[in-house]
Amino acid sequence: MIYPVDMHLHSTFSCDATSTMEQHVQDALQKGLKAVCFTEHVDYNPNDEGIGYYNYEAVTAEVERLRERYGGGLLILKGIEFSEPHLYPKEFEAFTKKDYDYILASVHFLDDAFVLSHSLIEKNTPEELFDRYYKEVEACVRFGGFDGLAHMDYLRRGIGHDLYSNDVLLGIFSLMVKNNIVLEINSQNLRRGIEESFPNPKKIKLYREAGGSKIVLGSDGHHPGDLASGIEKALDACSDIQGLIPGYFVKRRFISI
Ligand SMILES: [Zn+2]
Ligand SMILES: [Zn+2]
Repeated sequence: MIYPVDMHLHSTFSCDATSTMEQHVQDALQKGLKAVCFTEHVDYNPNDEGIGYYNYEAVTAEVERLRERYGGGLLILKGIEFSEPHLYPKEFEAFTKKDYDYILASVHFLDDAFVLSHSLIEKNTPEELFDRYYKEVEACVRFGGFDGLAHMDYLRRGIGHDLYSNDVLLGIFSLMVKNNIVLEINSQNLRRGIEESFPNPKKIKLYREAGGSKIVLGSDGHHPGDLASGIEKALDACSDIQGLIPGYFVKRRFISI
């Protein structure tokens, strides 16, 4: 049976996506999903190509239209993926007052450079970069105020290998538990040839050790056909981890599946 929910999707309301919301919705119905969540990018870093792109009114109108047209068989959820909320607290606060089902936060930038940019990776050692990346992730979850942490491990996509300290990750996960932030298991890599989710099962185990149990799964799909891809494989890979509770968010409340 297919995993019934994809909680991380982008449509043409995000600057880097090519699938329309309606294409994702039709794909979801065809694949037999029960719920999808559109987590369009909201970016404030001046170097982000997506700055100023997000349009709440247009997103809301389209979600409402699709709910009316398809809503009977599919729960269509409205969310955002907000980059580095701790660096843009006033802007972030304004978004928390809007009507969302789910607020996902992510770290896409280290200072003025995109995490996956070649210049950043060429100018710094992997040790320096991972250190900076996890410091930024820690600052983000310490700030809190959102529901899920997106694609922890993102830097790995640029560097290709992994480097982390259990203690640092345990610290981050403990803060997440304290601040009621759920860990996202992001399956984007499973369609890019890296056979592990972000984060991978070893880190998900550390999340459990820190007292975390709730998880949310998402494909981070940007293009037609991406929906739900890799999610089941990502979940299978952590089937030996006891006590994980997969779920989704409606009106910013966690519901287990
Ligand atoms: Zn992201
Ligand atoms: Zn995303």
